[in-house]
Order: sequence, then C-alpha cells, then structure tokens
Amino acid sequence: MSGVGDHSQASQPQAFQADVAKLLHLMVHSVYSDRDVFLRELLSNAADACEKLRYEALKDPALAPDPFVIRISIDKDAQSLAIEDNGIGMSHDDLNTHLGTIARSGTKAFLDQIGSGAGNGAEAREKLDLIGQFGIGFYSAFMVADRVDVFSRRAGSDEAFHWSSDGKGTFSIVPAAQDEAPVRGTRVVLHLNEASKDYLEAGRIERVVREHSSALTVPIELVEKPGDEPRRISEGAALWTKPKASISEQDYNEFYQTLGMMFDEPALTLHWHVEGRQEYTVLAFVPGSPPFDLSDPSRAGRAKLYVRHVLITDSAEVLPRWLRFIRLVVDSADLPLNVSREMIQESPVFAAIKKAVTNRVLQELVKLSENDKEKFAKVWEHFGAVLKEGLYEDPERRDALFDLARFATSTSPEGGRTLKEYIAGLQPNQTAIYYLLGEDLARLAASPQLEGFSARGIEVLLLPDHVDAFWTTTAVGFDGKPFKSVTQGATDIKSFPVKEENAGEEAGADEPPAASLATLYALMKQVLGESVEDVRASDRLSSSPACLVASERGPDRRLERMLAASGRLGAATKPVLEINPTHPLIRALASQIDAPDKEKFEDIIWLLFDEARVMEGERPAEAFAARLTRVLLGAVGPTAL
Ligand code: ADP
Ligand code: MG
Repeated sequence: MSGVGDHSQASQPQAFQADVAKLLHLMVHSVYSDRDVFLRELLSNAADACEKLRYEALKDPALAPDPFVIRISIDKDAQSLAIEDNGIGMSHDDLNTHLGTIARSGTKAFLDQIGSGAGNGAEAREKLDLIGQFGIGFYSAFMVADRVDVFSRRAGSDEAFHWSSDGKGTFSIVPAAQDEAPVRGTRVVLHLNEASKDYLEAGRIERVVREHSSALTVPIELVEKPGDEPRRISEGAALWTKPKASISEQDYNEFYQTLGMMFDEPALTLHWHVEGRQEYTVLAFVPGSPPFDLSDPSRAGRAKLYVRHVLITDSAEVLPRWLRFIRLVVDSADLPLNVSREMIQESPVFAAIKKAVTNRVLQELVKLSENDKEKFAKVWEHFGAVLKEGLYEDPERRDALFDLARFATSTSPEGGRTLKEYIAGLQPNQTAIYYLLGEDLARLAASPQLEGFSARGIEVLLLPDHVDAFWTTTAVGFDGKPFKSVTQGATDIKSFPVKEENAGEEAGADEPPAASLATLYALMKQVLGESVEDVRASDRLSSSPACLVASERGPDRRLERMLAASGRLGAATKPVLEINPTHPLIRALASQIDAPDKEKFEDIIWLLFDEARVMEGERPAEAFAARLTRVLLGAVGPTAL
C-alpha cells in the first residue's frame, strides 16, 4: 500500500462480488420487516473497530484515541444518518475487500439457505426472516439507504478514502479530502430511502440502541441535529466487570444477544469471578436454541478472550469442542498482554483457566440437571448430541457427562432416562447395558431387534445420534456394567424369563420340529449364499419373522455402515440372518420344507432378507421389486375377469 496515485483506477465503479450482488438485491428489494437490524450491525462493526484498535494500541499506544466512542448523528435536512467510530479504520485495500466481498460465514450460510430461487412469495419472505439470525453485516445498510458513503482512515495513516455505492451492483473508492474523513476511524453515512425516514427521529434511534446495542463495550453518543452537543445514550461499560447484584436479567439477555448472533434468550447464564492463583471473570451463556453453526465441521469454540478488558480474540478455544455451543467471555487479569494472540493461548495460565472454566461449566450443567429438570431437558434436546462427543473425546470427564446424559429407551421412548435410572431398573442377573444404534428414534423404537428384550422387561437404550456409534465402542461401561449392542453377536437373553403379560407373544407358540428347521436354515443359507454369514434361530424376536445382526467378530452394523460411508473401512462384513422359529410364516415354510415350491421359496427367502434389511434402514436387493410383485400376484390369486 502506498500513495494515493496508486488508486486512480479504483475511482472507476467496481462490480461487487457475485454473492454480494445477490445479497444486496435481497436487501434493496427486501420484504424483510425488521429493518432495525441495520443499526445493530453498523454499531457492532463500530465497536469491533474500537476493540481492534485497543488491541493494536498495546504495541503502539500513540494510536489509541482517548476515549473510544461511537457517535450517531441525525441530519434531517440532508435526510441522512451517520455512524462514526474512532476505531481501527479501513485502508483502501480494506474497503475494497471488506465492503466488496463476503467473508462472514454466517452470511454465506444464509445465502446457501435461501438458495438461488428466492422469489417473491411467502416462502421467500420466510427465508428472508432468517436474515436476522444469520446477521448480514454491513450490507444491511442498504435496507434503509439509497446510497451509502463510507469515509475511513486507517489508524496510523494520513490517507483517507471514500467508498460509495447505491447498492445496485457497483461501488467506487476515491481518496477523501482531509476534512471529509474522521481524524481516526470510520464514518458510515446513510442516505435514507423513502420508507426509512423514521430513523431521523431521535426517539427511534434511542429505542433501537437500547434494545439491541446497549451491551456493546464502547459508549454510544447521539447528535440530534448538526451543531448539537453529543448526548450519551449508552454507557459502554463491559457488563462482566460490574457487580452481579447490579445486573438485571434483561442486561444479561441483551449482552447475550450481542455476543455472536443469538436472538433468543439464554437457557442458562453463568457469571463468576475468580481470585487467587489466577484472577479472571467469566460470563457464559447456554443458548436457548441451537446456533446455526452448531454442526460446522470446524467445530470451533467461540469464546471472546479479553485481557484486562482488551479484546485479544473472539475465537479463543477456552472450552472443549463438545461445549462449543456455549457463548462466553473470559477476561483475565494475569495473561501477558505484550505477546501475540497465539502465544497468549499457549501460556500455562491460559491452560489453567481453560481447565477450570470447563469444569465449572460442566458442574453448573449437572446442577441444572438436578435442580431444573424441565430446563435441562431442553438443553439436552438441543445440545445432547454435541455433549456426547465428549464421551469419547474427553475420557477424564466421561463420568460427569454420563451423569448429564439423557436417553430414550425401549421402555421410555419419550426420553429423559438417566443411566442411573437404567441401572436401578436392571433385571435380576442382568450384567450389561443394552443399546440399539440407528438413524431415527421412531424407527429404533419399532425395531424387531427389541422384541425379545421387551418381552423380558429388559430396557434398551435407543441411540439415534451419529456420535453414539463412537462413544459406545470406547466407553468401558457405566457402574461396572459394559455397554452391549443388541444387534451384535448372539444374545444371551434366553436365560431371562419372559414376563407373564408378554407370554402369549413369545415362544409359547410351538416351534416346528428341529429337523425341518435345520433343513430350512440350510436352504436359506444356500439361497442367500455370499450375502449372509449365517442363518440361525433368534432369541430376540417375538412378533417379526427375521432380523439382521452383526457377527460376533464384526463391529455393530450401524457403526460399520458409517465407517464404510466415510471410506474408513474396506469391504463391509456379512450379517447374520436371525429367524424367529415360532413365527407363523417360518412355521409354514418349515412344514413345507420336505417338498418346497423351489421358486416361491426362493422369492420368500430373499424377501425375508430384504425385509430385515429395510428395517435396518438399508437398501433391498436389485431384484426386490420383481420378487415382491411375483409373491403378491401369487397371494391375490388368478384374475376373475
Ligand atoms: P463482520 O462484522 O461480521 O466481519 P460486516 O459485513 O459487518 O461483517 O463487516 C465486514 C468487514 O468490514 C468487517 O469485518 C471489518 O473488517 C470491516 N468493517 C466494517 N465496518 C467497519 C468499521 N466501522 N471500521 C472498521 N472496519 C469495518
Ligand atoms: Mg459486522
């Protein structure tokens, strides 16, 4: 970056990046009702700019103005609204990239969501309502303005630039006259459109600031008309530094909303101060609903790390990834300020803070689970799948996480069961905790694999989340009882008596003679060939004719499918087809086994196998449809016409 002359070309209008153009089109033709967000976004940028300069000034104190302030100025004659800060400012290059492209992951996610076909219908309106949740940043200015002028001077530079656009596809950047630009920082001037003149009323501005921006860490002033004295409308003190007793729930909620794009209310607010070996303050929130980036593959934590009120980074890894849904601020008094962001996060002090904060958060979650079951149920519903990642990523905290974990089970499909409750309900002599992995709860609850367990009153954990396949293989057990998949290996449940009330459904019915069954199984094996490892009688079925299980040696079938899908497993192992010998269909087949209708038997055997596969959420064989149609035709009989 050098002299002004280098930028002569830039005075030509430049096209916005394609994504920006698309976003701007949405803004300008917005049917989105909550236009107030523009002010929230611009004030948040202004406060960010001040925080950044506060950080840079650590190295070069001469850079920092005294004090930091954001000023909103109303000019009724010019029909304009200006938002000015004395923060870091933008160079020519900064203006070009930051206000010409989209870097925000939230905005990208928003554009992905609305897809290409954001028309004008009700659906488009609904999608646009999402804008608020993703945060559209600077470009939201075009919801209320026909033209936006940005005057900016990068801290430490003499040069100032003027960015300008009507939001219709192009922008221009020209050098700004010295008296046009702020001495330090950025002034955003909005030339309000016809529908947005209400933002020229001071009362309106004050209300929006109070609602959306009162928790920013920089004070905000209002100039009601040119020449007026600025009036402070928001004090800009860091909330977490105030005594707890002086902070209202509303203060906390407002702060939570400014902290990373949350627009609901927190499910849990934690605010504590530690003195002793380390001194620091933490303000943490468990969100009331899942943030849009919860499943972001980078799974990064989003803690704001301050050192003596100076923002060091807003993406510090204070909490482990399985607590990434928690929004928090940590303000340390002891971390070194004069070293890089990276080095700060590698210091032993930071490591100690991390550990203590994680323990405390976990402890508070356990407390919530004990004291407010309903509230905790919501937290678990939203974040349980993330918390369970800790079961295999953080063995040290596994026991605490097992205390938190809530499960749907075969006897409580509505969920909310703890492992302690499960253990309390063990059948006499039951030595394992049984579980069933699957894709969704409804399908799991209806799985034939559960029949024999249910008949014996044995509870089975229903595990529908992706992470379940992993922690169940690494966790040794709970309370001395190992975890055991009901779909893996032979069951050992024959020794448990069938409950009386279920006796009718279960093995009470006669089994066919052993010899016929043996011949039937042999035929099945021959027909299915390489598709199965074995065919055998099952203990676990009572009302279904057949099911698939993994062989003793292989992994659970769900885990295997997941590994195969991610290419981490070569060929999948073959399943065992288990047969319910008391089922009417099996008994009928066994009774005809001495003189079987070869073709019909073959179709039926394959269909049995396919039925079992479908119940597992797998695909049936290619010939499935043809076979099914043949068998149906046989069942319906010859046509009477
Ligand atoms: P975000 O704030 O999430 O990064 P925005 O669209 O709000 O996204 O802003 C884009 C970028 O423009 C910011 O990251 C920042 O680099 C720059 N920017 C915007 N407003 C200002 C400002 N008042 N001072 C300095 N830089 C700014
Ligand atoms: Mg922003």
